[in-house]
Amino acid sequence: MPGTAREPMCNGMSATTQAGASHDGTVAPQVLHFDRVQPDREEITRLTHLQPGREAHRRWFELLDKLLAEFPRLMRPRAVYRIDEVTALEARRIVLKSGAVFDGAVSSFLEYSTLLVTYVVTIGSALERLARGWLRSGRVMQGTIADAIASEAVEAVSQRLYDELLEWAHGRGLELTPPYSPGYCGMTVRQQIPLFASLPTERINVRLTASCLMLPIKSISGLIGIGPADRIAPRGDPCEACDHPDCVQRRAVCDRRRFALMNEEGGCPAPHESDSPRPRPSDAPPGSA
Ligand code: SF4
Repeated sequence: MPGTAREPMCNGMSATTQAGASHDGTVAPQVLHFDRVQPDREEITRLTHLQPGREAHRRWFELLDKLLAEFPRLMRPRAVYRIDEVTALEARRIVLKSGAVFDGAVSSFLEYSTLLVTYVVTIGSALERLARGWLRSGRVMQGTIADAIASEAVEAVSQRLYDELLEWAHGRGLELTPPYSPGYCGMTVRQQIPLFASLPTERINVRLTASCLMLPIKSISGLIGIGPADRIAPRGDPCEACDHPDCVQRRAVCDRRRFALMNEEGGCPAPHESDSPRPRPSDAPPGSA
């Protein structure tokens, strides 16, 4: 399997992509093991509704900091990704030179992309099992904080991969689109199937259930377009032109002017094409794995 030679430890994108890159910019499947990631403490307090000024919450903040210090030993931050040439970008279909095909209106979000990254990241299952155990035994606040740390940790792995891809792309005068996950932006969760079929996800111990749920739950999958900087960058964040009422992946507030403009030009394809959204790690019900 391509990419496995770089295991067990690769922390640098440049080293791995040099090894796997071909002359056309495509990269064979790569497995990255990150030594440590930093979950966003502010976002964890938001997820757990902890308020800094409240005396009653002080002991939970102490627990949060204790767990943040202890938990890295329970995390296995890993990523698997590949970069393929886009051979056709139609209104509702992306075809890659590798033979992979992704259906859905997400293709309009990827306009001008000449290359496509497919990826899966995870932190492993230890932390979610610990959080679930605490919740089941009635230690609700401990379990909730642990679950939120795990959710933010996998977001941090995703961001780490994105930053490394960005550096790689900028070194070639290229730009990245935001990441898009099956279940959002006009892509159904069933698009997990071609995504997983094209990646050696067993190398990072992530698998897909029959209902397209990833296990471990604290995993994120997605697509990222790569293309000429002068075409990709001005497109801005597509969330500004999307009025999805309850998208948990929203990255920017809806700009009504951009939304109206998009609709005049053919409509915002984002929200109404998807089936039930993919559970985000932070939404995953404890005990569902
Ligand atoms: S708000 Fe719209 S464009 Fe943004 S991630 Fe959600 S569905 Fe996609």
